[in-house]
Amino acid sequence: MSPTISSVSVLGAGVLGSQIAFQAAIKGFPVTVYDIDDDALTTARSRFDKLAATYVKSVAGVDADATKAALDRLTPTTDLAAAAQSDLVIEAVPEILDLKRETYEKLGKLAPTKTIFASNSSTLLPSDLKGFTGRPDRFLHLHFANMIWLHNTAEVMGSPDTDPKVYAEVVEFAKAIGMVPIELHKEKAGYVLNSLLVPFLRAGMELVAGGYADPGDVDETWRVGTGAPAGPCQIWDVVGMRTGYNIMAAGTDEEKQLAAWLKKNYIDKGKLGLESGEGFYKYT
Ligand code: NAD
Repeated sequence: MSPTISSVSVLGAGVLGSQIAFQAAIKGFPVTVYDIDDDALTTARSRFDKLAATYVKSVAGVDADATKAALDRLTPTTDLAAAAQSDLVIEAVPEILDLKRETYEKLGKLAPTKTIFASNSSTLLPSDLKGFTGRPDRFLHLHFANMIWLHNTAEVMGSPDTDPKVYAEVVEFAKAIGMVPIELHKEKAGYVLNSLLVPFLRAGMELVAGGYADPGDVDETWRVGTGAPAGPCQIWDVVGMRTGYNIMAAGTDEEKQLAAWLKKNYIDKGKLGLESGEGFYKYT
């Protein structure tokens, strides 16, 4: 348990929200899971069952009893007022500014003053959202990675208004749920991980798109030259070509050209990466 945070809510039980909720529950926290309607909560329950099976298979020291106890600590609800009562509310609703604004405006009115709000947003900055919360000093970002049980970074990023004590409490909470906290000293689009990863992945794609080298040779260079387990084209296949397209299409003119190349040569041919069985590589 974290010294000051003993109850958690997660808003939005989608891909990331369900993982955050389950991870906190497996570490002993009671977690209220809020989503918009009963259908969304039914989907969330099946996500939790799949996560339970994955944890038993993939996480050392976690057995069926532990996942059963974790499932029992999750309380799904469509009542935002109930979710607002926890010490920490982690928001993982879709990456749409208006939706996040609406959520924080409602939440700010329902939550007691002690409650800390944290957003899992990948692309927005705390300063984009703090004005909607009614408590900029008790608001910051806590950004998790997909497949949280394997990639257990938690990037902590405040705005200039975030109270340093609140920041420190959230860092402690991240540790308490088994994360490696990555502390950012100021706001940065992409946090630390994507600030490193996106330019690296783009460089790999540029080498292939420009005809300089094949994906296998680009990746082998990186693996042999640095000892890293995977090269950029292997990582693109896991991330998926559609995400690659969206990132590149929102970038500079050169990146837009890369997006067009990716669409013509991969996406339009159904080569979406690992999920479709073929991307830069073929999978059986
Ligand atoms: P998702 O679409 O899988 O899930 C979103 C969930 O929010 C759904 O269950 C949906 O029903 C629910 N929802 C919709 N409107 C809502 C509302 N008004 N209130 C509460 N819940 C609502 O999305 P995701 O991929 O889990 O992304 C959620 C957040 O996490 C985004 O901010 C995204 O940037 C961030 N994130 C995603 C990833 C990723 O790999 N998917 C990684 C890191 C961070």
